[in-house]
Amino acid sequence: MKVKVISILEDNYMYLIIEETTREAIAVDAAVSKRLLEIIRREDILLKAILTTHHHWDHARDNEELAKLYPGLEVYGGDERVGALTHQVTHEEELKFGSINIRCLLTPGHTVGHVCYFVWENDSLNAPAAFTGDTLFVGGCGRLLECTAEQLYKSLMEVLGGLPKETKIFCGHEYTTQNLKFASKVEPENEFVKEKLIWAKLREDEDLPTVPSTLAEEFLYNPFLRILEEPIQKFTGKSAPLEAFAALCKARESFRKPKERLNPQAMLAFEWGLFDPLLQK
Ligand SMILES: [Zn+2]
Repeated sequence: MKVKVISILEDNYMYLIIEETTREAIAVDAAVSKRLLEIIRREDILLKAILTTHHHWDHARDNEELAKLYPGLEVYGGDERVGALTHQVTHEEELKFGSINIRCLLTPGHTVGHVCYFVWENDSLNAPAAFTGDTLFVGGCGRLLECTAEQLYKSLMEVLGGLPKETKIFCGHEYTTQNLKFASKVEPENEFVKEKLIWAKLREDEDLPTVPSTLAEEFLYNPFLRILEEPIQKFTGKSAPLEAFAALCKARESFRKPKERLNPQAMLAFEWGLFDPLLQK
């Protein structure tokens, strides 16, 4: 199994999971079909299915177009708002593509129908992978748009947090530097945050992705997975985990790049998928 990281739009990631013996492939968040088709042609692979994490246009925009180009293409997601959806998955439902296994994990928080996909290959020494969309980011987590802090907390701590620690995390956006700047405000003494931030800035300078991380690493520097740690509770002033988590989400809302703060309307439009995609890029 090979995972291709494809950087698209402003800061999104689209992925291709390739079964190397059969040359069959599964796309994750196929928002830019043109880029996907180029790679499919170049790699000489056959697209079998799309896994969509959530319905926002920057994750699902080109599902319909791909479904037209590939009759019989299977489109998986957890929300009927996902374009060209053929299979609405349930929590812990398992899918199989040759030697590749996929467990669908319902992870409400950013949207009500958000799904993360845990993927592993039979008889492989490689670590499993999780495609976490806008639920878990490197160093952070998605914004609460349709759900409560409690739902997102459970999705992060119980559903994703319970995966094997060596799981590779492939998330939906390149937000790592900004996430870690917030993390360093929350935990200024955390050496793992400092190190990862230096590394992420170097990657940014080289225009290289910061994915994947591993779940084990995330527990070291991602404040949203470290709610039970003393510095986080000190920062939020709350000792009850759920209250501390909600306070952290709130603090993050006011921690934005000045550009975003100046133009809240643009942020909203982006998050709710109101932009005309042609205008956006
Ligand atoms: Zn989104």
